[in-house]
Amino acid sequence: MELAARVNLAVTSICAPNCPGTGLYRNPTAPNLMLQVNSGVAKLVYAPEFFSAVYEQYGDGAIVGLIAHEMGHALDDALGAAWIKSSWTPELRADAWAGCALGKLGQSARDLEGSLAALAKYPSAGHPAWSIRLPVLQAGFTQCGGDAGKFGAALQHTR
Ligand SMILES: [Zn+2]
Repeated sequence: MELAARVNLAVTSICAPNCPGTGLYRNPTAPNLMLQVNSGVAKLVYAPEFFSAVYEQYGDGAIVGLIAHEMGHALDDALGAAWIKSSWTPELRADAWAGCALGKLGQSARDLEGSLAALAKYPSAGHPAWSIRLPVLQAGFTQCGGDAGKFGAALQHTR
């Protein structure tokens, strides 16, 4: 999938040369989207119906945002960074890396809006409240070169 390749490129610029191997796999019986790690190999598994629904509602940026979060889990297992706080839970660390990947991606304002809207709308079960996740996403975004003004503008539309 082309969108996943785009996210992967951004992620690779963060983790090279120690990137977790990640592939995207379509599975009609998968629960939405999940990361499976088996003996060090990470797989992103998605339900096509879920991706279609998300895409119809929020567009390309939404798929990018959700993939970035899942890849964020893989990055979190593989890397650390000084700006990642030790008090952040694994879900928050995945959001931080997702924000970082989005910052590297340099999406259009509209796609960034879609990413944030989908992340807010489809949290995984262990996620804390959006009000806690948001500053962490923003921290990752700006740490990795994203434009803070653009992030703020995109947010105006997700409320
Ligand atoms: Zn997660």
